[in-house]
Amino acid sequence: MPLLFFICVYKSDIVYKFSDFCPKSRKMLQEFLILYSRNTKRIMADIVSKEQRHFIMSQVHSASTKPETILRKFLWRQGFRYRVNVRRLPGSPDIVLSKYRTVIFVHGCFWHGHKGCKSASIPKSNTDFWTAKIARNQERDQDVWRQLEAKGWYVIIVWECQLKKAVLDETISKVSEEIYHNGEAIQQTAEERKKAREVYQLEMRARREREASLKAELAQC
Ligand SMILES: [Zn+2]
Repeated sequence: MPLLFFICVYKSDIVYKFSDFCPKSRKMLQEFLILYSRNTKRIMADIVSKEQRHFIMSQVHSASTKPETILRKFLWRQGFRYRVNVRRLPGSPDIVLSKYRTVIFVHGCFWHGHKGCKSASIPKSNTDFWTAKIARNQERDQDVWRQLEAKGWYVIIVWECQLKKAVLDETISKVSEEIYHNGEAIQQTAEERKKAREVYQLEMRARREREASLKAELAQC
């Protein structure tokens, strides 16, 4: 592991240049650096130049303060377990809680057009271009939600402005309440399915018994 860490830090600027073409490797590198960020500064002092060090730490900072990361951290603390950026699901949801059949998207207010939000106001220049672009993004979002719901997933949208310090607690409690609620709904449908199966099995048994007694009567004739 120390060798991997050394290579990762020492070569990280090269990896970053490469990762412009490969977002997955960028994400892996960022997560690796966050994991080791406590030791990063100290170890880097010996092995990379000042510019490289500054560049790497800026990446660590930008990755660890992403709104999505803030939400993930709180959910984890509350005991939720999840997967991130699941590509096999429509729209690669940011957070996937399979146990609760729930996916969460953390949306930037501007790019996804948060209605009535200050951060989502359209720039005064190139207004038509921006309006069309945001509308396209919204259409795509709605298409993704429909696809997920058709597959039986509950979709939660968290807007970036809802993760600001002043409203963070409120958002977290709303989100976790919704996740629990979804979990209960799944439980209910599972119980309903179980009941329906039991009724069906009873009906089948009664039918078999009727058939058997009919056969016995016919045999006596
Ligand atoms: Zn907003």
